[in-house]
Amino acid sequence: MTEYQRICLVHYHEIGLKGHNRKTFEQRLLKNLEALLSSFPVVTIHRISGRLCVFLKEGTPSEVALEAGSVIAMVPGVARVSCGFKCGRDIDQMTEAGIAAMSEAGPMASFKVQARRSHTDFPVGSQDMNRIIGGNLSDAFPDVAVKMKDPDVTVGVEVVQNAAYVYARSEAGIGGLPVGSSGRVVSLLSSGIDSPVASWKMARRGAIVIGVHFSGRPQTSDASEWLVDDIARVLEKTGCIARTYIVPFGDCQREIALSGPPELRVILYRRLMFKVAEEIARREKAGALVTGESLGQVASQTLDNIRCTDAAVDRPIFRPLIGTDKLEIIREAERLGTFEISSQDAPDCCTLFMPRNPETHAKLPRVMEAEAQLPIDQWVSQLADAAEVHDYACPSYRPRDRKPHAEQG
Ligand code: ATP
Ligand code: MG
Repeated sequence: MTEYQRICLVHYHEIGLKGHNRKTFEQRLLKNLEALLSSFPVVTIHRISGRLCVFLKEGTPSEVALEAGSVIAMVPGVARVSCGFKCGRDIDQMTEAGIAAMSEAGPMASFKVQARRSHTDFPVGSQDMNRIIGGNLSDAFPDVAVKMKDPDVTVGVEVVQNAAYVYARSEAGIGGLPVGSSGRVVSLLSSGIDSPVASWKMARRGAIVIGVHFSGRPQTSDASEWLVDDIARVLEKTGCIARTYIVPFGDCQREIALSGPPELRVILYRRLMFKVAEEIARREKAGALVTGESLGQVASQTLDNIRCTDAAVDRPIFRPLIGTDKLEIIREAERLGTFEISSQDAPDCCTLFMPRNPETHAKLPRVMEAEAQLPIDQWVSQLADAAEVHDYACPSYRPRDRKPHAEQG
């Protein structure tokens, strides 16, 4: 039997709705996929009738093609990915490709064919294709029943201008918009469970995420920094993080602990964290800050305390998890692949110099008064300057600190 070229068809919904922006979004997604699939045997990626088609090299083994499909499914902007074959616009070839696709689709009791023509110059109508190819496949798989409603497997047949694409394996993608289509955000990234999920959600809405992690160093070890690096590497696989800034925060915390009122320490730490994050956002030209806070989860996440920390900065602070329960967040972290990393214990600035009774209903004037005793502005620029920068592969990110001519590349 002829061996047909393997392909992954990438479907996107939301982009299709974007009217005149559509082309930019498609190009963004195409570029992101090209970069993220660089370790796979990809020949080229083309835009074909409202889809992107990833063409794999001849002889690509089925496992490799399926793995490429799984990577694609987690890339923001992808609504669905279907792995199958490219063949000629010929019913016999479509049947052969359908047999090959069904043979790899795992055990099934029922199937149907769903044909679609993007070019009506193909003489056979889609209903007739369903009937003819369905009949042929039924002959090839006599134990598999044809079922129109909820079959185990749907064999997709898409006829385009010069070819046909046939697939039986199809998985839902994570949806959203391609990273790079919604600007930049600076995300406060701890090694906990929540903030990686919050960062990922913003990336899924098209934002380029720049992480800022506050380490307890030199008052603690650098263990949390390693966990944050592991988390960033998970996010990197789908192009969801561009860089991280690791800020050694321990000494400033110590100063705050020595001089500030104990019950306000946490708020003072957090206001300083937000100010440093905002300074980094200014340097990176990022429009907003992001945290993994969820209302009422811990002492610092009461409405009063959120108000006191928000007042420290001018940029909007996004909290994509504010209304989410911990169990839901855990489920998302598992899907994303960061849960196990985040479950490891590492001392970071959160565990350092904690008061016995943190204030849960801080009042801004008192906080401001306490803060006025500290050299905050000086600390903000010192901490931002002292941050260690780690870069990750994010196809749509161009560092602002490069010389202008390098920005073209
Ligand atoms: P997480 O699981 O994300 O650490 P949490 O439930 O432990 O969240 P907090 O420790 O109060 O809650 O932190 C709330 C948010 O503040 C975090 O989601 C994160 O955005 C930010 N944050 C906390 N600690 C750090 C840190 N060490 N570095 C950077 N950001 C932090
Ligand atoms: Mg935490």
